[in-house]
Amino acid sequence: MSLALKPLLLFLVLCALNPLPSVESAIPFITTLQNLRGISRGQNADGVGILRIYLKSLGYQVNEKSPSDNNFDANDESALKQYQAFHGLHTSGVVDDQTIETMSLPRCGIPDITATPNPNPNPNGLSSSPPQNYSYFPGNPKWSKFNLKYRVTANPSNVAVSLNVLRQVLSNALNTWRQNNSFTFNETTGVSDIVAGFQRLSHGDGNPFDGRGGVLAHAFAPQDGRMHLDADERWSTTGISPTIDLETVCLHELGHNLGLGHSNDPNAVMAPTYAGVRRTLRQDDKDGLNNLYGF
Ligand SMILES: [Zn+2]
Ligand SMILES: [Zn+2]
Repeated sequence: MSLALKPLLLFLVLCALNPLPSVESAIPFITTLQNLRGISRGQNADGVGILRIYLKSLGYQVNEKSPSDNNFDANDESALKQYQAFHGLHTSGVVDDQTIETMSLPRCGIPDITATPNPNPNPNGLSSSPPQNYSYFPGNPKWSKFNLKYRVTANPSNVAVSLNVLRQVLSNALNTWRQNNSFTFNETTGVSDIVAGFQRLSHGDGNPFDGRGGVLAHAFAPQDGRMHLDADERWSTTGISPTIDLETVCLHELGHNLGLGHSNDPNAVMAPTYAGVRRTLRQDDKDGLNNLYGF
């Protein structure tokens, strides 16, 4: 890739990322959700504007309205139904208990919808065939080589795991992704394709982290291989509640680094919410990678 193209690609990737601004408001997002419990089309409540910004930040289609407009209109209902469908919830169009529970889970900072429509909702159109629910980033960016170098960046202060733990966990997760395909990954201390490390709050890429809980991590699409892990989470190598399993999150974020978007298969590694330890790829994850690269 020529040097001249790099800023443009970075700009495109940043546009696709969309941070989650609502989570940083003075009132915790979970409190806002509690206040919206049971709201349905046509009703008003404090926090509808924040919910709208949240849905938009995740790639769902909402109308441009003032954040202070707290009327839950037909468009908001439609966006909420899309969110519910993506997350395997009952598509009630109401801010119900299940929806609040899912929105309260820790998750990845990358939007659910980055390409419209999902390129692979079910390619055969047959209800009996297994669903293929993976997605890619806009334009299907991917690596033009299979031998990738990676490195880790120095830990900021007060991270729950050491740099050597991150290196080991990253190695495990890379090994999981390289099964049955042509990828190889070699650690280096120099120029690397994938660069992983912990970052805290605002860290210079326009996608600030939100402290403990909420967003856990985000990663960039090829051929920008940055992976950022929220330094303020309770990271561990066990995932015993309430800690967050570092390998599970690294495995997910590496999927983004390799070109995968979010999957609406709730059991896939590329599902957007964190639901405990998940260190093995599902068929949907493998199909997504194989179809992107033609393995
Ligand atoms: Zn993600
Ligand atoms: Zn970042």
